[in-house]
Amino acid sequence: MDTKYWSVDKSVENHGAYPQLGEAAQLLRQHEVVAFPTETVYGLGADATNDEAVEKIYKAKGRPGDNPLIVHIAEFKQLENLVADIPDSARLLMKTFWPGPLTILLHVKPGQLSQKVTAGLDTVGIRMPSHPVALDLIRKANLPIAAPSANSSGKPSPTTAAHVREDLDGRIAGIIDGGQTGVGVESTVLDCTVEVPVILRPGGVTKEQLEKVIGKVVIDPGLQSSDRARPKAPGMKYTHYAPDAPVYLVDGSITYMQHLIDERRKKGQRVGAIVTEEAAGFIKADAVEICGRRDSLETVAHHLYDALRSFNQIDVDVIFSEIFPREGIGQAIMNRLDKAAGRKYLFEKEES
Ligand code: AMP
Ligand code: MG
Repeated sequence: MDTKYWSVDKSVENHGAYPQLGEAAQLLRQHEVVAFPTETVYGLGADATNDEAVEKIYKAKGRPGDNPLIVHIAEFKQLENLVADIPDSARLLMKTFWPGPLTILLHVKPGQLSQKVTAGLDTVGIRMPSHPVALDLIRKANLPIAAPSANSSGKPSPTTAAHVREDLDGRIAGIIDGGQTGVGVESTVLDCTVEVPVILRPGGVTKEQLEKVIGKVVIDPGLQSSDRARPKAPGMKYTHYAPDAPVYLVDGSITYMQHLIDERRKKGQRVGAIVTEEAAGFIKADAVEICGRRDSLETVAHHLYDALRSFNQIDVDVIFSEIFPREGIGQAIMNRLDKAAGRKYLFEKEES
């Protein structure tokens, strides 16, 4: 398949309307899939009401059929058709965080969406993205748009159109290039069908931000390391976000990381390192990727996937990464690093 390509500059002031998106919106209406930028990562969109269209998303990504898709809307009025029993707390969250990186899980109204979107569950995750290109595309298509991240299943999510091309060129109808995405990690998925809302996937809106608005929120215990409970979001059980080489998370000092690197290099291995700007000057490896600044974890979220992905272009046998506090956006960063590494940690204390 010949993948079409459009370039859109979101900084051009045109009241949120982009004539270049007409063809992409038309393709969505014809049940094709199109990748588009959002404020989190690039999404792979299709008509959420149509089985054939939604099936194409799963096929292009190689996504397991039991992993449901998030539905993207551009207007509040689209919501009432799709979900039932919206609690007051969910309405308050929508008012506060939409458009933005928060996916709210609610009971799905039967018969409105393709069953493949919900993977047979009775709930659906809905989000209103804040990226002007995403909003205009959804408005022009005039449909609820099912959209997972626009990567091959298992790879890090794409934060540039080039990343999407790497994975999906020739497999989808089109790619809208809107430049680099902002937040850099996916939306927070919050289950609002239960008494105390549960974070099923930490993301762009933090637990602390949610609690300021609605009070107590819990994190799905299935997400925490070493727990036997299964994560409630089907997608969180898969290894994910992983570069080709194995990743180890280093719980210790920079000197300890350098010691780990040296040990491997002595054995003739090529070693990659994911480090912050603050540490970069102290680390010598075959490839050093800077993932942002430790004193501003937002920059780490923004650069993380690009750093993970870059190791697919560089030949290394092993990758060591710094770790971060599990607070604020650090929750989402550590969740993704845990998955990229398959929770393989190396502890300085245990060695000394
Ligand atoms: P992605 O499509 O790559 O952004 O991932 C979406 C995440 O949300 C996956 O982990 C899904 O399993 C999860 N998710 C989407 N819809 C539901 C749902 N109805 N119930 C539980 N988890 C969901
Ligand atoms: Mg994804």
